[in-house]
Amino acid sequence: MTDANHILTGPCSVERAFAIIGGAWTFLVLREVLLSRVQRFDEFCANLGIARASLDKTLTRLVRHGVLERRPIKADARRMGYFPTAMGEDLLTPLVAAMNWGNAWCADGQETRPRLRHEVCGQPLQGAIVCSACHEPIRAREARFAAAPGRHPDLAPARHQEYGKNRYVPVALLERMGPCAIARTMAAIGDPWSFLILRECFYGVRRFDDFRRHLAIAPNILSVRLKRFLAEGILVTRPIPERPHQVEYRLSEKGMQLYCLPVSVIAWGDRWLAGDDGPPLILTHNNCGQTFTAELYCGYCNAAVVGGEVRMMPDAS
Ligand SMILES: [Zn+2]
Ligand SMILES: [Zn+2]
Repeated sequence: MTDANHILTGPCSVERAFAIIGGAWTFLVLREVLLSRVQRFDEFCANLGIARASLDKTLTRLVRHGVLERRPIKADARRMGYFPTAMGEDLLTPLVAAMNWGNAWCADGQETRPRLRHEVCGQPLQGAIVCSACHEPIRAREARFAAAPGRHPDLAPARHQEYGKNRYVPVALLERMGPCAIARTMAAIGDPWSFLILRECFYGVRRFDDFRRHLAIAPNILSVRLKRFLAEGILVTRPIPERPHQVEYRLSEKGMQLYCLPVSVIAWGDRWLAGDDGPPLILTHNNCGQTFTAELYCGYCNAAVVGGEVRMMPDAS
């Protein structure tokens, strides 16, 4: 992590990535597509307990941005199904990052789902998010960032349009069909503004006015999300000695551990949405001194895991 001399104020591949996939239902739809290979609209509805209108909106957005493809189902060519593109398969890492954090911090002693298997080695997936250069797990305190050419401040209005449509969804709705670590994570941070605020926290931003200025976010939208992060224990407040009526917002240990999620979304955004100028920032891993992106590694066979290699295991009970 680096102190906030704020170098990234405008939309870029990262913000586009948050806008496309930064919603709670979006992650659960991706869970169904990537881990259970669900294809049919009715099957999504049954597995998620999601309203048809919300599902339609989510699927349409994912198809429009090239994450999914809508085409006839092979076994029944009269019916249409949803299939991940290569860009969609590549979202496995953020999905596992969300699952890992939900398991570590929101399981409340319950056995959580989904349980995954790495099809290559046949073992239950203990997926670690690692540095692409040295393959060691990445932590917020061990990484720093620097600006790169690929940021485009002129896209600011598009951000507000896209983000307004993605609302916070309570965990009771997301878990209507059963407990899920991904659902719990997304109940805590599952909307694009929350992802952006979290990104700012990792840049070292701590004060209300700084969040507001850097993100051009409305005070009420910001305030609701900071309160939720406090309630979730992701942020804690500290007094500001020279301003007795104000507080700073700092990441707790629980918040620090979320790092792999935004970083893996950033890696995906850089690969698929960066455009000609490349990514908006370069991450460096202090431990190995190399620039890096987030990669998913299997703890058993110690190899990179790519989209299509992981499946949900049937529940034990
Ligand atoms: Zn490294
Ligand atoms: Zn493996």
